[in-house]
Amino acid sequence: SKAKLFDQNTEVKTTFKDVAGLEGAKEEVQEIVDFLKFPEKYTTLGGKIPKGALLVGPPGTGKTLLARAVAGEAKVPFFSLSGSDFVEMFVGVGASRVRDLFKQAKEKSPSIIFIDEIDAIGRARGKNAMSGSNDERENTLNQLLTEMDGFGTNANVIVIAATNRADILDKALMRAGRFDRQIFVDLPDIRERKEIFEVHLRPLKKAKDLDTDFLSKQTPGFSGADIANVCNEAALIAARNGKKAVDKQDFLDAVDRIIGGLEKKNKIIT
Ligand code: ATP
Repeated sequence: SKAKLFDQNTEVKTTFKDVAGLEGAKEEVQEIVDFLKFPEKYTTLGGKIPKGALLVGPPGTGKTLLARAVAGEAKVPFFSLSGSDFVEMFVGVGASRVRDLFKQAKEKSPSIIFIDEIDAIGRARGKNAMSGSNDERENTLNQLLTEMDGFGTNANVIVIAATNRADILDKALMRAGRFDRQIFVDLPDIRERKEIFEVHLRPLKKAKDLDTDFLSKQTPGFSGADIANVCNEAALIAARNGKKAVDKQDFLDAVDRIIGGLEKKNKIIT
């Protein structure tokens, strides 16, 4: 069904406490939570509530998580789709998918629309030499711009988009009244990695020798997604070895394994 396609989740359970670190970004999106919860507070003074925000940052840093948490905090439905879906699944029907998505979100407003990998549809026009798909992508992008412009001030649907390539986006997307707010979501520093470890260690049976200061020192350059991966991998390694709790050595082995995976990935890219 369409509702499923857009992953509409009326009861988003994710909240800010699931998002470790990212203090600046959380502060900025707190404002969006407030717009969704108390729109009158802003509109009575004649202000227009922003329609869109763009989360910009490297892969796996928690952009999707943060967008879900906004919906969870505001207790509003979350409609999400990925820009790459348009390229892979919605060939020929991109514009009508966008129309459907906004229609559903308006019916359920206040609500959030989340568009991951917006660069897949929002690349600057005329820069894609690939034949055929270009017009299609432009139609989809134009429909998105039209929907955002046509919102009206009371629609109370906020569109959050994510990208790791803000530099290639069509400038029309960033115009006032569209994605005019950019929020940076960066790789975690050592203190933030410690917090992310704490979140992902919660469900594990932990051995006494586990130390999040040590783990955060061992993982420079890791994203939140990498850390979540390490925690899960460590638990699997411990289980495989018949242990009763996940210990430091399991984590060191898991870190090695993830680093191995990252190196492989980088090799493919270069
Ligand atoms: P992409 O650009 O690849 O779509 P993203 O920035 O949207 O990535 P998420 O999908 O939100 O990243 O992150 C993947 C997973 O990594 C999350 O579901 C969560 O388990 C973990 N994670 C990432 N960042 C954080 C964080 N700041 N705090 C806690 N967990 C995190």
